[in-house]
Amino acid sequence: MDLTFHIGIDDTDSPRMGCTTYVAALLVGRLQDLGCRFTDYPNIVRLNPNIPWKTRGNAAVSLRLLCQERSIDSVKEATLSIVKENSDLTYDKTDPAIAFLEGDVPAELSEFSKKVIQDIVSVAEAKRLAAKFNIEFNLIRGERGLIGALAAIGETLQGDHTYEIIAYRTPGNRGSKRRVDERSVIQMDSKTNPLTFNNYDYESKRVLITPHGLDPILYGIRGENPEALLQAQNMLTVDEEVERWVIFRTNHGTDSHLRRIVSVSQARPFRPVVVQGRVAAKPRTVTGRHVIFSINDDTGRIDAAAYEPTGSFRKAVKGLIEDDVVEVYGGVRKGSAAYPRTVNLEKIRILKLAEHTVLENPRCPKCGRRMESAGREQGLRCRKCKLDMRDAKKVHVALGRTIKETLYIPPAKAHRHLTKPLSRYGREKTNAPRSMIENWHSP
Ligand SMILES: [Zn+2]
Repeated sequence: MDLTFHIGIDDTDSPRMGCTTYVAALLVGRLQDLGCRFTDYPNIVRLNPNIPWKTRGNAAVSLRLLCQERSIDSVKEATLSIVKENSDLTYDKTDPAIAFLEGDVPAELSEFSKKVIQDIVSVAEAKRLAAKFNIEFNLIRGERGLIGALAAIGETLQGDHTYEIIAYRTPGNRGSKRRVDERSVIQMDSKTNPLTFNNYDYESKRVLITPHGLDPILYGIRGENPEALLQAQNMLTVDEEVERWVIFRTNHGTDSHLRRIVSVSQARPFRPVVVQGRVAAKPRTVTGRHVIFSINDDTGRIDAAAYEPTGSFRKAVKGLIEDDVVEVYGGVRKGSAAYPRTVNLEKIRILKLAEHTVLENPRCPKCGRRMESAGREQGLRCRKCKLDMRDAKKVHVALGRTIKETLYIPPAKAHRHLTKPLSRYGREKTNAPRSMIENWHSP
């Protein structure tokens, strides 16, 4: 009899090597050899990016299968050995974890996943859930990875989701410069966007699909559907061997980490939030690179910061003045004696621009020159026309604004994995896909 079976894996990464998605890619072939059938693309679930003890990309993966009951033990053994062989245990912050769930995903586990993506949960909470739902788990060193392994199983991506096709390098090439032609990336981007996104940063002229580290990823292309990704992959000029490639389904580019809160006082450290407020102190540039301002509402006040890597986004932020009404998006950084609580800006929406005026003398009705004071309580005078206006007073003159009532997002290179790019607005999905395409991984 076939069993519904879920595998969650977290935290095999280190800055030096390894990548949790690669472990999943290796398992794709291995588990099919054991007679399992995939019921979904492997899922990459990005967790709360503001957790201070996160792994490099804070990514967990899950594999969803139909397996024969008698092969379950071999499936578990294969998973354990591939995770062990491919985890960088020389890095002391790597705490790989694997979780196995038989049967359907319980609603309570899905709730737990939402919390792991938006908030902070304890290892104790994860253990309680594992016990309640009979989820078997393996902790290869520490316990922290259990949270992500469970969250990957529980987040079934029923709402908005995207896809990523990831190609991996052969072992001999890892560590060397990735040979993916820049012009072919730009061409692929222009032909496939908006069905793909964040391929290239035009502001800094940087290829975004290739990482720079020692990890096995050659490139990863993100997009709205598997067909667009296959098409995009075919447009690349790649001058090195691809070991394997797999299409994943993910919460990349969905903003699923951001939670709307109704007041500034609810912005708690390490939580990604969306909150509205009034600009209480206009932007100032600190150390010549970062732009910081404050917002408030009836419940309190908080700083918001656009850091140097957000590039031209800072220009929009600098255009704010007191009393503008805004909605800020981003993770909350804990305050200290030296720095107040701060929202690290991922986006900003200008809801209402305040009127920006200065008090000036009016212009002369005859010649249009700016009038001058004629002396104390003497009204105003035009020196040229010799015109005296005893009752004239200074007037409010509206100054132009450099920003509009709209949404501002930093350039692609500054996006978090979870940040929804502008091109995805209006493309949000509300259902999981019905069927998988035939060729979702390399032969
Ligand atoms: Zn005049």
